[in-house]
Amino acid sequence: MAEQDPNPEQERPVREIRINPIVPSQSVLVATARGMRPKQAEQAAPRDTRVRVDTCPFCPGNEHMTPPEIAAYPDHEHWEIRIVENLYPVLGDDRQNPSFSFGLQQTIDGYGRHEVIIDHNHHGISLHEMSVDHLAMLFGAYRERMAQLYDADDRLRYVLVFKNFGPAAGGSIPHTHSQIIAMPVVPDNVQAEVEASHRHYEKHHSCIFCALIDEALTFEATIYDRESGEIRRKLDVGQYVIERGERFIAIKPFASRYEWEVHILPLRHQADFRAATAEDLADLGRVLKRTMSRLEAVLGGVQYNYFLHSLPPHEEAPGSQESFHWHLEICPRTSIPTGFELGAGLFVNTISPEEAAERLRAVELDED
Ligand SMILES: [Zn+2]
Ligand SMILES: [Zn+2]
Ligand SMILES: [Zn+2]
Repeated sequence: MAEQDPNPEQERPVREIRINPIVPSQSVLVATARGMRPKQAEQAAPRDTRVRVDTCPFCPGNEHMTPPEIAAYPDHEHWEIRIVENLYPVLGDDRQNPSFSFGLQQTIDGYGRHEVIIDHNHHGISLHEMSVDHLAMLFGAYRERMAQLYDADDRLRYVLVFKNFGPAAGGSIPHTHSQIIAMPVVPDNVQAEVEASHRHYEKHHSCIFCALIDEALTFEATIYDRESGEIRRKLDVGQYVIERGERFIAIKPFASRYEWEVHILPLRHQADFRAATAEDLADLGRVLKRTMSRLEAVLGGVQYNYFLHSLPPHEEAPGSQESFHWHLEICPRTSIPTGFELGAGLFVNTISPEEAAERLRAVELDED
């Protein structure tokens, strides 16, 4: 796949509105011409790479500085991952993030839980520097806590797992951590995915996520002009694949909202993250590590958010187990949203997903 695609489409600036195939009401303006880059680049913040910081409440030795421990992995004594109550619930320690379009603040006030997962006992480690085993353990911790929360309180409608890394992504505590918010409603964006994929299922009796994976793995698609029958455009759709493991795939979405957005999905259909097995998580760890290494190599000091989207357990529409497909959305923050984006709700992406995917794939990684 190293040779240059002769497709002239690549060289010409792209300027088109792309409809999100999963949620058609969401669209993005892909505009790559130089003059179309109105955005201010997000400054790469100097990364705190220290192993241990005396005053950091999340560092080993300072366990007494955190709220009570909920769980520790592999065990309390030799923890590598800790889950604790959030000292400042309701996004207290993280700036409100523009991705949270729903009223999180009001939502959580009624009831809900907000917990912090200290991802690693090493203060300044980045995700791509963690071992595959550690990443599998981290996602195992998410899975276990998610299951416990749903089991413990029937009123909870969604358990959101997410991570903000770097000041641009809203992370204000430098020690690597992620968060769990258990809430009494399903967030708007998840609900939109659930409903839209269910409509697709009713029409086509298939999962749209699976269909997109198949499409991404298909080598080539040709688009003909309906009038003349001439070939209008040849798409190498394999070009959207960033990483492929035995059980997981990392894809650059066709209608990416963020320049370097990448989604990771299980290759075999699975609606609920809680159904992922230990073998699944091992492969997820590998695909995630490699994906983050690629982003790091291209962007240098990547700041990002990731969100885990899984079928809400109370979703009762018949077929929803077949129509929804859990996934991890990784959204690197490389530019500050413009007023236009915030006001119009239309994302502007100034690097075509094809070019971004090409650059991410071109990174040479050491074999692990
Ligand atoms: Zn620390
Ligand atoms: Zn599927
Ligand atoms: Zn999603």
